[in-house]
Amino acid sequence: MIILPRLRCPGCGKTIHAVKALVVPPAEKFEDCLRRCNRCRIGASNAKNPAKVKFIQGDPLPEPPPEQPQSPE
Ligand SMILES: [Zn+2]
Repeated sequence: MIILPRLRCPGCGKTIHAVKALVVPPAEKFEDCLRRCNRCRIGASNAKNPAKVKFIQGDPLPEPPPEQPQSPE
């Protein structure tokens, strides 16, 4: 089991929680990142060493309709 430590989102400063994974793929795009800030759509690359983490900006989402509540994640 591999544990990727928690990080701070460089966009909003919120904590990106640690994740446990059996397999850690190399992250080359936002969708590959196991740790992400969904508000900023910033993903942290899957490096175990926080000094080696790169932050990857995802594509912006289209504006959601206002009556659709967003489930927190
Ligand atoms: Zn953020």
